[in-house]
Amino acid sequence: MKAVTFTGTRQVRVADVAEPKVQEPHEAIVRINTAAICGSDLHLYHGRLTGVEPGTIIGHEYVGIVEEVGSQVSSIRPGDRVVGSFHTACGHCWYCRQKLYSQCVHCCLFGCGTRFGNLPGTQAELARIPHADFTLHPVPDDLSDEQALFAGDILSTAYFCAERGNIQPGDTVAVVGCGPVGLCVIQCAKVFGAARVIALDMVPARLQMAKDLGADPVDVGENPIKAVKALTGNRGADVVLEAVGSEATLKLAFQLARGFGTISAAGVFTEEALPFPAGRSFAKDLTLRVGMANVPAQFHAVLELLRAGRIDPTMLITHTLSLNEAPYGYDLFDRKEAVKVILKV
Ligand SMILES: [Zn+2]
Ligand SMILES: [Zn+2]
Repeated sequence: MKAVTFTGTRQVRVADVAEPKVQEPHEAIVRINTAAICGSDLHLYHGRLTGVEPGTIIGHEYVGIVEEVGSQVSSIRPGDRVVGSFHTACGHCWYCRQKLYSQCVHCCLFGCGTRFGNLPGTQAELARIPHADFTLHPVPDDLSDEQALFAGDILSTAYFCAERGNIQPGDTVAVVGCGPVGLCVIQCAKVFGAARVIALDMVPARLQMAKDLGADPVDVGENPIKAVKALTGNRGADVVLEAVGSEATLKLAFQLARGFGTISAAGVFTEEALPFPAGRSFAKDLTLRVGMANVPAQFHAVLELLRAGRIDPTMLITHTLSLNEAPYGYDLFDRKEAVKVILKV
């Protein structure tokens, strides 16, 4: 079968690889129809993720049709159209029983190499899905593949970020970063009751998309702290949602939050440690929350919000390519010439 593999820094290729088989009774094989390139795929594309060997099948956003299930799989059947979480969850460990699936003791990430369970990725014709009952979720008939795909990663990440921001009705929420996740965060902040969303980025096209979603755009190149203060009675934002995952954006988040404000960070931080403004956080009574989306716990809410039209991430799709064109898609996305690249398999 064909699959997208990492071959070296800024190099991916579509290779012929062996088809996966069910290895454990809790697994399923999914024939992928629609995949996508995620911002976190760029971490490994840039060679920043250790443990990703050349030849690793990459990708973790996917919708497809169940081809085969192991004997223990009970909630999905061959022929079902499913969306998958970017991380697996066993459903049985202590964390999974508390529905804290992203901390599953058997948690693996698709296509992220040996540090994350060495699980082949899903930018491929077929993918092997461990713990299929919890990792996969049926797609309602009235949602397209493209809509549902977002529930498996970036929209659930955005929802998780906004939920943990403790947004109160009427709040002013600053969203740092208007990439694909940030644009989803803007929509989720409104679901949780934000009266006003201030969107910060430096790319004009992204700021325009944020504006189209009803946010107040602020160019971070033009004194963003002053701009946010001007919009918030000189206090700062009630809630800051960070959607990039860099030292600079986290630092800005601390500067934008008002006293007693909450910062919720959804960006993937690859650094071991970042400077933490301990004195400022103490003096301002700040709350900081960081973490990886708990996707299986959120599938239902996110899919229902999609069905109701309360959120619509398909406006982010700028390119729909074939799986064979994946190297071109990675290059476009890396150069920020694409917002969201979909791969039709
Ligand atoms: Zn991702
Ligand atoms: Zn578990």
